[in-house]
Amino acid sequence: MSTESIAVYPGSFDPVTRGHLEIIERARDLFDVLHVAVVANPSKECLFSSDERLDLLRAETAALGGSGKLEFTSFEGLTVQLAGKLGARWIVRGLRSGADLASELPMALTNRECAEGELDTVFLPASPGTSFISSSLVREIAAAGGRLDSLVTGGVEEALRKKSSS
Ligand code: ADP
Repeated sequence: MSTESIAVYPGSFDPVTRGHLEIIERARDLFDVLHVAVVANPSKECLFSSDERLDLLRAETAALGGSGKLEFTSFEGLTVQLAGKLGARWIVRGLRSGADLASELPMALTNRECAEGELDTVFLPASPGTSFISSSLVREIAAAGGRLDSLVTGGVEEALRKKSSS
């Protein structure tokens, strides 16, 4: 068994926001390897394809700080299955509010149960400066042509503009 601490940070990342990036940077310092995993659920309609979301994540995390190794993947199915495949013992999730906690807690407990205690969830509280950001808000503002610079990085803003003009 690997002695490295391995974690997975799953999410839709449709698209990656400054809030996600902040969580990635902090989680990197906690684990030797952090797998950022794009949920490619065919039943969920996304603005960006899973490949586009992965490309944006790769590009926008390139300049991030943090010591752990970053890996990227996309997956269908259950996070617990992906964690087993990757050898991850931890799931990382960001918490913006009590509403996030209310939906995340049952998932964390279920995942732990399904993995027979071999998988725990680490919650990182969002920073005050980014806790209001969500991908859905970003998509809405982009569609209306609003300012996005405090919510996403320049590369994501450009990708959003291209999507709206295509
Ligand atoms: P999901 O559909 O799985 O919730 P998201 O891409 O919306 O996918 O979010 C992935 C994870 O990132 C979740 O744990 C979510 O709470 C967290 N997250 C989203 N936005 C922020 C933010 N602004 N600050 C901190 N964590 C965030």
